[in-house]
Amino acid sequence: MYPDSIKALIESFKYLPGIGEKTAERLAFSVLDLEDEQIEMFSDSLMEVNKKIRRCSCCNSLTDQDLCYICSDHQRDLTTLCVVEDSKSVFLFEKIGLFHGKYHVLNGLISPLDGVNPEDIGLSQLLDRIHKEKFKEIIFAFKPSIEGETTALYIKKVLDGLDIKVTRLASGVPIGADMEFVDSLTLERALNDRKIIE
Ligand SMILES: [Zn+2]
Repeated sequence: MYPDSIKALIESFKYLPGIGEKTAERLAFSVLDLEDEQIEMFSDSLMEVNKKIRRCSCCNSLTDQDLCYICSDHQRDLTTLCVVEDSKSVFLFEKIGLFHGKYHVLNGLISPLDGVNPEDIGLSQLLDRIHKEKFKEIIFAFKPSIEGETTALYIKKVLDGLDIKVTRLASGVPIGADMEFVDSLTLERALNDRKIIE
């Protein structure tokens, strides 16, 4: 019933999470109301993101450079490493602006039930880094879940014998919560009250 180009636009919006048929239709029709230059910016930014965004060669976070701005920043505390499960968490921490160390982004968390094993989440890059750089503390900032727990304990075990303090965020971050929905005050407390993993 729709012209092909509108149909294609609707289908494109449906690639995005949480967007069903109805919302996709609504979004597609609102695109029709945009000014030419807004549409140009929209389509250019999609292309740019696709072309330029890649993984930082050091921390594995998303960047449009070889090294992300955090890895290239020599003013940061080089002794503290915050390990997170995805790039979104880095942006979240940066937004609250309380953590001044470095980050490392894993490709998700260990989840044997879903067939995700330690070798699938990029641990070797993390371990290489830990052996090369001079971290005194490693903070696991995963969402509170069995997967987060499993991953933290696994890495802690691998690091056994190294002279590095290993901590995790304090509870306060609700179990099962997605990190992106945790408010900044909760996250700030969780970071300040972090606990040593025994
Ligand atoms: Zn980086």
